[in-house]
Amino acid sequence: MKEIFLCAINNILSGTCQEDCKFCTQSVRYHADIKRYTYKSIDQIVSEAVLAKENGALGYCLVTAGKGLDDKKVDYVARAAQAIKVEVEGLNLIACNGTATKEQLTYLKDHGIDSYNHNLETSERYYAEICQTHAWSERYETCENVRSVGLALCSGGIFGMGETAEDRDSLLTSIASLSPESTPLNFYHPNPALPIKTRNIEFDEALEVIKKARMLLGEDKLLMVAGGRELLFNNKEHNMFDAGANAIVIGDYLTTDGMSPSKDRHMLEKLGYKVATSCHPTDA
Ligand code: SF4
Repeated sequence: MKEIFLCAINNILSGTCQEDCKFCTQSVRYHADIKRYTYKSIDQIVSEAVLAKENGALGYCLVTAGKGLDDKKVDYVARAAQAIKVEVEGLNLIACNGTATKEQLTYLKDHGIDSYNHNLETSERYYAEICQTHAWSERYETCENVRSVGLALCSGGIFGMGETAEDRDSLLTSIASLSPESTPLNFYHPNPALPIKTRNIEFDEALEVIKKARMLLGEDKLLMVAGGRELLFNNKEHNMFDAGANAIVIGDYLTTDGMSPSKDRHMLEKLGYKVATSCHPTDA
């Protein structure tokens, strides 16, 4: 029976970013109507991790808004990771904190982080169209740093931000060149406050993206349908699993609501899938 991996996200520092990524409600430049806060308490993060584990999550991602890590953030994420490891057994801890040096990543690894998420977002060519405050090459370099310190790499992107079919292929090839252990595929969720107004990808094209990603990444990797799943695959989840996806995000995303975890577990059961209990795909 095919196993599906569940991953939960905790936005532990939200909506305070000075960068200009045109797809991101967490940029302060676009005044999107989202919750903004700094440094959620460690106690709250731990209780939310307990709940995620009870809901079947194997992966637990600690996300901070902002371009990258600084000393304060590294210390905070490391303390959160240590506290979770003491209280919750069996969660694969992922940090997602933007640009990171090898030293910062090593510190996180030494304090309980298992994996680092940094998405390439879109093709190298199209990146300058969606972000002017930092370069695609910086993103690629952080991913290389992740690999070089021995953390598992989680890297993917967002589809439907106005890119061409060639950009999609180029993004997938770049992701595959990093050999990430897991790859989140996000499908753009428009928000009226953001400069990118519409999503230029529909169901069939999204399935093609999943199929190509699976082919390029190999059978033994985690391929996750993350943001935008509800917009494109509601009640058609079997199509995305048939195309090669073997992981989903449960609960809410960074700034948008997801399905309730119990609804997702029910959906998986109905479709005949098992919720994975170990991070190593057996029948992907
Ligand atoms: S750097 Fe990250 S948090 Fe900041 S605007 Fe870009 S995607 Fe959003």
